[in-house]
Amino acid sequence: MRSTLLRVAFAVLAVSAPETAATGPDGLLGCKALAASGLGDGILLPSTPGNGYHESVESYYGLGSREIKPTCVFRPRTAQHVSRAIKALSKLPWVRIAVRGGGHSTWPNNNIADGVTMDLGLLDQTQVHLPTTPHAPPIAAVGAGSRWAAALLEVEKYGLSINAGRVANVGVAGLTLGAGLSFHSGRRGFTCDDVANYEVVLAPSGQIVNANAKQNPDLFKALKGGGGNFGIVTRFDFAAFPAGKLYGGMATTSWDYRDTILDSFVRLVSINEQHPADSQIVIYMYEAASRSLTVSSTPVNTDGNANSTSFEPMAAVPWLVDSRKIQTYSDLAASMADPGGDYYMWFSLCFQNNKRVIDKATELFERLRDEVQRGNMEADVHRLIWVFQQLPKHYAQKNPGGNVLGVDKTLTEDAIVWLGEANVKTAKAKAVFQGKMSKISEELEGYAESIGAATQWRYMNYVNQDQDPIKSYGRENIAFMKRVAAKYDPQGFFQTRVPGGFKISHVR
Ligand SMILES: Cc1cc2nc3c(=O)[nH]c(=O)nc-3n(C[C@H](O)[C@H](O)[C@H](O)COP(=O)(O)OP(=O)(O)OC[C@H]3O[C@@H](n4cnc5c(N)ncnc54)[C@H](O)[C@@H]3O)c2cc1C
Repeated sequence: MRSTLLRVAFAVLAVSAPETAATGPDGLLGCKALAASGLGDGILLPSTPGNGYHESVESYYGLGSREIKPTCVFRPRTAQHVSRAIKALSKLPWVRIAVRGGGHSTWPNNNIADGVTMDLGLLDQTQVHLPTTPHAPPIAAVGAGSRWAAALLEVEKYGLSINAGRVANVGVAGLTLGAGLSFHSGRRGFTCDDVANYEVVLAPSGQIVNANAKQNPDLFKALKGGGGNFGIVTRFDFAAFPAGKLYGGMATTSWDYRDTILDSFVRLVSINEQHPADSQIVIYMYEAASRSLTVSSTPVNTDGNANSTSFEPMAAVPWLVDSRKIQTYSDLAASMADPGGDYYMWFSLCFQNNKRVIDKATELFERLRDEVQRGNMEADVHRLIWVFQQLPKHYAQKNPGGNVLGVDKTLTEDAIVWLGEANVKTAKAKAVFQGKMSKISEELEGYAESIGAATQWRYMNYVNQDQDPIKSYGRENIAFMKRVAAKYDPQGFFQTRVPGGFKISHVR
C-alpha cells in the first residue's frame, strides 16, 4: 500500500509542475533510487500532505534553510538505512545531497534544492552504558539526530553528565563535528574531545565503521573538529562523568553596567584554569522593534556553587531580569532555547583576552545600532547581538594532538571568542547586513592585529560561510585532513556530492 502511494506520488511529481522551481529531475532520480532500495518508508515528499516533509523543512533554525525545498527528505531510522542510501545515491553522480543533524546551522549547509536532504532526526536515541571495568568511563551512546536536551535528560537519570552544548534544541551532531563549547569545557575541553567512538557511514561503499583510539584512529582524530568531510556519523559515544546540579542562568542589566560585567569576564578568563568549574558568557542585545539595548551575563558554576569568587566583581550590579539558580544542566539548556526563524548573519573571530579589543567591538556594536536607528530599519532587523565567550589556553591542553583544531599549537594566550550576529527578517536586509557584518569583522580583526592581540583560530560553528575556519587549523592539520579524506572517501563524495559545510578540498 505504502509503495503504491509512493509510486503515485513520484508519478505526480514527474508529470505535474514542481512545487517550487528548485524541485527538478535530478533530485527526483535520487528519491526514486532510495525507494528502489527499499527505503520508501523514510521518504517524505512535498506533495504528500501530513507525511512530515513540511514539518521537517519548517523546523530548521535559520529562515535561509527553511526556504530551501529539497525534492524529498529522507529520514533513516538506522545506520543501515543510511548505509543503503549512500550506496544507492553514490551510483547517481549528478544527485546532490544535504545532511541534517539538529538543523541549527545558521547558514543553509544543511538542506539542498533539487536534491535529497537526509534528515537524521529519527536517530535520536541515547543509551547509557555503565562501565564493566574499574577505570573505564560510563559511555553515553547518542544518536546523530539527537538534540542536547534529550541526551542530557537521559544521562542525568544516572547522575551523569556529558560535555554538552548549552542550548537544548541545538543538534548533537553539527556541534560535536565542529568542536563544541560547553559549560563543562573548563574541565573537559571541547565537546569533541570527549567522544570515545564515532559510528560512521563511508562513501561510496556504505560501509559502517567505528572510529576510536584503536580502530581507524586517523579518522577518529579527523572527525574531532573536521566537520562533515569524511562520512555521515550515525552515533557519537561520549565519555560521561558524574555530575550533580549546576548553578547558573542569565542575568540582564542596563547598558550602563557593561564595563563592570566585562571586567569580571576578562578577569575570569585569566583565572579560569584555577576555577575550571566557572564560566561566563556576555551578551549585548539590541532589539530593533523596541530599541532596547541590554547587556547580559550567564555565569555558571558546574559544581553547583552559587557563591564562587569568580563572579564577585558583578555582585553590585542591579539586574533587571535574573534567572540564576541551582538547576540541572538540561533545565538551564532548556531556558536558553529560542525558536529561530530569522536570517542569521553570523561572523566570528578569536582574539586575546584584552579589554581594548572588547572596547573596539563595543564601539562597532554601537555604530551598527546607530545605523539601524538612523535608517529606520525596524521592519527588517530583529536583533543585533554580540556574544563574548571564554577560550582560555588551558582548553587546548585537554587533548593535545588529539583533534585537528590546531589550538594546542596556536592558542598560546588566553583568548575570547567573539560572535557577532545580525538577525534579520527580510531578504533585502540579509544582503545589506552580510556586507555590514563582513566589514565589522574585518575592522575588528584588523584592530586586534594592530595591537598584537590577534589569535589565529576560527570556530567553525560560529563563523560566516565567507570565513574559512579550516585554514586556521594550521598546515599540518590541513594536510592530515586531506590525507584522511582521500583514504576514507576515495571518490570525494563528501566534497562534491554533499556540498554543504566547510570542505577540506577548498582549502589551499
Ligand atoms: C541557538 C544556538 C545555540 C548554540 N549554542 C552553542 C553552544 O553552546 N556551543 C557550541 O559549541 N555551539 C553552539 N551553537 C553552534 C552550533 O554548534 C552549530 O550551529 C551546529 O552546526 C549545530 O549543529 P546541528 O546538528 O544542529 O546543525 P546542522 O545544521 O544539522 O548541521 C551542521 C553541519 O554539520 C553537518 N552534519 C550534521 N550532522 C552530521 C552528521 N551526522 N554527519 C556528518 N555531517 C553532519 C551538516 O551537513 C551541516 O553542514 C549554537 C547555535 C545556535 C543556533
